Amino acid sequence: MKAARLHTFGAEFVIEEVPTPVPGPGQVLIRIAGAGACHSDLHIASGETQGIALPHTLGHENAGWVETFGHGAEGQGLEVGDAVVVFGGWGCGHCSFCLGGKEQMCDTFLWGGMGPEGGYAEYLLVPSTRHLLPTGGLDPVLAAPLTDAALTPYAAVKKTLPHLTAGRSAVLIGAGGLGQYGVQFLKLLSPAKVVVVESDPGKRALAQTLGADVAIDPLRENALAEIQEESGKNGAAVVLDFVGVDSTMTLGSAVLGRGGLFVLVGLAGGSVPFSFLGLAPEAMLTSSNWGSRNELAEVLALARSGDLVSTIEQFPLSEINEVFDRLGRGRINGRAVLVP
Ligand code: NAD
Ligand code: ZN
Ligand code: ZN
Repeated sequence: MKAARLHTFGAEFVIEEVPTPVPGPGQVLIRIAGAGACHSDLHIASGETQGIALPHTLGHENAGWVETFGHGAEGQGLEVGDAVVVFGGWGCGHCSFCLGGKEQMCDTFLWGGMGPEGGYAEYLLVPSTRHLLPTGGLDPVLAAPLTDAALTPYAAVKKTLPHLTAGRSAVLIGAGGLGQYGVQFLKLLSPAKVVVVESDPGKRALAQTLGADVAIDPLRENALAEIQEESGKNGAAVVLDFVGVDSTMTLGSAVLGRGGLFVLVGLAGGSVPFSFLGLAPEAMLTSSNWGSRNELAEVLALARSGDLVSTIEQFPLSEINEVFDRLGRGRINGRAVLVP
């Protein structure tokens, strides 16, 4: 099969022929319909994050059709040809995190595309049917980004909901692949005012189309004062940072109000000092790590209802290097999906 493989950090992906996987006991082979191009793969491919052995096929945002079952995997509610999304946080299935339904928190960390081979290829080997959810009529190309670009902000926004009472505000930084969904979840699930901070004018416009009450350019003169004013007199109840560089974390912690919650999602490696007087009293800082399989089922239901919309650009897998170049320069509208 064709796969886009990373051989060297900082180099381009190489499209090459590799053996098509054969599913072993309990495993399922998926024919990829589409794989979302996540900014995390840009962090990985550039060598910013360590720990992945090369050569490797990245791609952790996958959907497609059931191609074949390994021994014992048939007869569990899926048929050959079914359209499915792949829950990507594959864990051991036995530890307390996995049994508690948060397999993405398992320390075994067997995420397809970050260890086991991923979906920038024609086929994907999935270790168990429990990682597959029927799309329920959704086009699998359009459904692929739901598995991460939508699931991650969904889980992050859910953490913030107790803070988001009427009259309070949420500041969302970075309205790209993930942020486009974050804006929608905030509007669908909370009464809060949504203040988007985004440097790209096209993405600010998209965020407002998706329901953001205001969208501010952080590079504008007096941007901090403007964000503070839009956040209300008590400061932001919630900050969601989908970028995660020093400057966004500094800005986010500066606008956070008393008892507010800062949720870091972006993996750009930034940090912010944690000190009593440097933050509003009783401010809380946390991170959010992907989402659970059950949360993915909830995201799929929202997408099927039509309440959640996806802004997607489709590209052939052969254009993966151009796609990641564009992603790095902020030139993707919503999420790019690679189609083999
Ligand atoms: P993206 O490139 O599609 O979106 C990032 C957005 O941030 C872009 O719209 C860009 O214009 C904007 N931006 C960049 N710098 C900015 C700044 N200083 N101020 C305001 N806006 C700025 O990326 P994505 O795929 O949405 O991923 C976002 C981040 O989330 C990445 O770091 C990615 O690795 C991370 N991520 C984390 C998880 C998790 O589980 N925690 C899951 C998926 C992705
Ligand atoms: Zn991702
Ligand atoms: Zn586990």
